[in-house]
Amino acid sequence: MLNQIEGIVIRARPYGENNKIVTLFTRDAGKITCMARGAKKPSSRLAAVTQPFTHGSFSVFKGKGMGTLQGGDQLESLRHIREDIMKTAYASYIVELIDRLTEQDEPQPSVYDMLYQALHAIEEGYDPEAISLFVEWKMLPHAGLTPTLHECANCGATEGEFAFSFQELGFLCHRCFHIDRYIIRLSPSLVKLVRTLYFVPIDRVGSVKLKKESKSLLKGIVRTIYEEQAGIRLKSRSFLEQLDRTPEFLPKKEEVQDPQEDELS
Ligand SMILES: [Zn+2]
Repeated sequence: MLNQIEGIVIRARPYGENNKIVTLFTRDAGKITCMARGAKKPSSRLAAVTQPFTHGSFSVFKGKGMGTLQGGDQLESLRHIREDIMKTAYASYIVELIDRLTEQDEPQPSVYDMLYQALHAIEEGYDPEAISLFVEWKMLPHAGLTPTLHECANCGATEGEFAFSFQELGFLCHRCFHIDRYIIRLSPSLVKLVRTLYFVPIDRVGSVKLKKESKSLLKGIVRTIYEEQAGIRLKSRSFLEQLDRTPEFLPKKEEVQDPQEDELS
């Protein structure tokens, strides 16, 4: 059976002399893996459409076992992502996280929409570090972790000061701070920021300018949750951390000023 299906290439690994095994994340069929014969040869018509992050319309022949990629039309190239090492690194991190937390052949249109929005936001020049934070917070339920962020995880209060508790997997209000010795106190603006990252779709956000220290803190929290509570640590994370430590290897860019306040609207 031949299917024409819209999707995004989230992984392509070489197979044998000339082939690639390609993982597509599609809106209608979820994650599918197929063989792209000859795609490693630059002259192949499949070479371009099997590049990571390609958004395309693919013809997949599905018989028994792994499907075969017969052809594909690129809908968008998202070339700005591929031309910038930082953007590539964050986009790779995002697709690896989604790959890790989803099953084959299980339609998950909301995950597809988020992936699509995240890659577009990075392509359009939004801060890739902030965009990856959205994806990390939003994917928690797919790792079986549903943090309580709309109210206090202990008493249900919605008013007051809040802190993050790993023990309760969510916010605690100031009346309940005493039940966890290791809470992380958060300013009201950080509380709001965490809620936006978790609840608000990426394409509803108009402006994303976050302070470096806010990003570091919220990244630290969400990655600790994945690591401690789901045992998940991604390969592409090491590369990102290496880039963070060695900015001198990055192409020189205009200095971007760290904003005075977090701005998310
Ligand atoms: Zn409480």
